[in-house]
Amino acid sequence: MHTKTIAELVIELREKKISSQELVQHYLNRIKKYEPQLNAFVTVLQEDVLNEEAKKADELRAQGHAKLLTGIPIAQKDLFCTKGVRSSCGSKMLDNFIAPYDATVVRQCQDAGMILMGKTNMDEFAMGSSNETSFYGAAFNPWDLERVPGGSSGGSAAAVAGRLVPVATGTDTGGSIRQPAAFTGVTGLKPTYGSVSRYGLIAFASSLDQGGPMTLSAEDAAIMMNVMSGFDPLDSTSVEREYGDFTQHLNRSLSGLKIGIPEEYFGPGLDPAVGAVVQEAIKEYEKMGAKIRSVHLPNNALALPAYYVIAPAECSSNLARFDGVRYGYRCENPKDLMDMYCRSRAEGFGAEVKRRVMIGTYVLSSGHYEALYNKAQCVRRLVQNDFNTAFEEVDIILGPTTPNVAFKKGEKVNDPVSMYLSDVYTVGVNLAGLPGLSIPAGFAHGLPVGMQLVGNYFSEDRLLNVGHQYQQVTDWHKRMPAHV
Ligand code: GLN
Repeated sequence: MHTKTIAELVIELREKKISSQELVQHYLNRIKKYEPQLNAFVTVLQEDVLNEEAKKADELRAQGHAKLLTGIPIAQKDLFCTKGVRSSCGSKMLDNFIAPYDATVVRQCQDAGMILMGKTNMDEFAMGSSNETSFYGAAFNPWDLERVPGGSSGGSAAAVAGRLVPVATGTDTGGSIRQPAAFTGVTGLKPTYGSVSRYGLIAFASSLDQGGPMTLSAEDAAIMMNVMSGFDPLDSTSVEREYGDFTQHLNRSLSGLKIGIPEEYFGPGLDPAVGAVVQEAIKEYEKMGAKIRSVHLPNNALALPAYYVIAPAECSSNLARFDGVRYGYRCENPKDLMDMYCRSRAEGFGAEVKRRVMIGTYVLSSGHYEALYNKAQCVRRLVQNDFNTAFEEVDIILGPTTPNVAFKKGEKVNDPVSMYLSDVYTVGVNLAGLPGLSIPAGFAHGLPVGMQLVGNYFSEDRLLNVGHQYQQVTDWHKRMPAHV
């Protein structure tokens, strides 16, 4: 059961080959068996609650009221607020936080009939690339338990790769859906900024954060986008438009598709074994009739430094609300108000979050604002312009998702810059607000390699079509990790 995609499970449920109760119990048994080694979850819902939900789903189906995804299990990244269920954001600060309302994404999944199995582990406040900054300890990569699953949506990636759930949500501020998807051999889509609601998503950097699905196939990502995308008046940056059916063009031919290969994505820093896998994938696309040409993203090298000014700036502002007063952690026996503010934050936040808050406060301070923050915003525009120029010539931009395969736990945790470099091909896409899809493209050093496809604004249906066609002629996305 657990090797099946959502698309396949939906048919099995419809044809009554399985019931939702069997499905939920099966995944729950897998969670019980593998969670001790993967640490993919912060919270798993109680067995009786899950059985009750599954039973309701089966009843709806028996009455002929089932929707497409009724009774399909899902896990939510622990920064999506879930009413009545702890939403910790991977932080001690919110370890005791039970959200009083559901995030729009959570509500959408519920309205679609999906069953919330649990909340996934993540880097604290989504700041990290390895899941090691989580207050709950790192999640592990099911391909190699000594390695990280990537981050910040590492728990979601490990849960889907480990087949503990058929789908999980992630969020991507600088690469946090695509990089862990690449490291664990799953499919991850970071949608166009504004197409998935941020309401109820605990904020890191609001102009960059975007939720999206992590699945076993591009087709499943399309199915999930039908659930998750849409205008939300509760999110001021939600884009009001017709989102359409993301599954509609999955089978479109790729003949004549123009794919651009940015030279900047194949420069020094790229592991040659990863590069070779992506070159093979490019050949596969040529066989399918795509036209390959080289493009340039000349400002790509500036994307990472600009991101590490803008994201911390927004983080310092967003995280100011965690002051020990309203919700979350409060230190014991404060001497006075200032002591409570200071100690609650000092004790509640981990080292990486503090580093970001300090950098962000610095770059926004008078005297540095013009020189650093404003400059980074100018660079952001240059990065965006590069993509706009490239998309005048090509439909899709293709490259590796990350320069390396999953690294060992502890390898980069004391070297933030080397950790930040694992997002060197992904952050530009966030700065520009574009959609990016990572799909498994093969293996290097025995570990999964992700290929990133970037499309123009709101071209997710094309992007998913290009991913789906590749998955029709390859089976990388079906390979099972060694440890589950
Ligand atoms: N790894 C990047 C960071 O640490 C991106 C995180 C994310 O996308 N949430 O900021």
